[in-house]
Amino acid sequence: MTDKSQEEIKAERYKARQQKVKAAVDEKIAAATDSKGLLLVVTGNGKGKSTAGFGMIARSVGHGLKAGVVQFIKGTWDCGERNLLEQHGVPFYVMATGFTWETQDKTADTEAAQAVWQDAKKLLADPTVDVVLLDEMTYMLTYGYIDLDEVIEALNDRPEMQHVIITGRACHRRIVELADTVSEVQSTKHAFQSGIKVQKGIDW
Ligand code: ATP
Ligand code: MG
Repeated sequence: MTDKSQEEIKAERYKARQQKVKAAVDEKIAAATDSKGLLLVVTGNGKGKSTAGFGMIARSVGHGLKAGVVQFIKGTWDCGERNLLEQHGVPFYVMATGFTWETQDKTADTEAAQAVWQDAKKLLADPTVDVVLLDEMTYMLTYGYIDLDEVIEALNDRPEMQHVIITGRACHRRIVELADTVSEVQSTKHAFQSGIKVQKGIDW
C-alpha cells in the first residue's frame, strides 16, 4: 500500500470539514419550516437600501408574484426601477408634491405624505398583493407626517402571507421590533464624498 500524499491528506480533511458544515446547515434548513408574510426593514446610512428593496420586488415579479411600490420621497430624477417594473405591471404610487430635501413646508409635506399613505394602506389591505415596497417610509415617521400607531396597525392587519419591505435611514425602534428581518447598511465610503455626482443606473 502506498502512503497517502500530503495533498491527499489535505483533501480528505477538507472534505470531512465541509461535510460537517453541510450537516449543520441542513439541520437548520430542516428546522425552518414556517411560512409567513414577512416584514423586512433595510435601514442605516450606507448605500443599498432602496436597491435592496427593488431587488426583492424584481425577484418577486420574476416568480409571477403581484407587487406594489410606494415612494415616500418626491423623485427628482426619473427612476430606472419604475421605468422597468411598470412595464411588468407593478403599480407605483409616488409622492407627487411636497417633501423633498429642499422644501420644508410642514403643511404641504404632511398633505403629500398623507395622500400617498392612503395608496399604501390600500395595498396593505389587498390580499391579492403579495409584496409591497414602502420606499423611504422611515422619514415620514421621523417627521411625524404619518402616525406611527396607524402604520403599525396597518402592518399588523395586513394579509397573512403579504411581504412588506420598508427602507430609509433611522427606522423607528417600534418598526424594527415588529419586523422579522432587519438589515442595517453601513457606509464604509461613498463616491459622492470624493466629489463624484450621482450616476445613472447606479444612483437612480
Ligand atoms: P440606493 O437607492 O442607491 O440603494 P439608498 O436607498 O441606500 O441608496 P438613500 O439614503 O435613499 O440611499 O439615498 C439615495 C441616494 O443617495 C442615492 O443616490 C445614493 O447613491 C446616495 N447615497 C446613499 N448613501 C449615501 C452615503 N452614505 N453618502 C452619500 N450618498 C449616499
Ligand atoms: Mg433609498
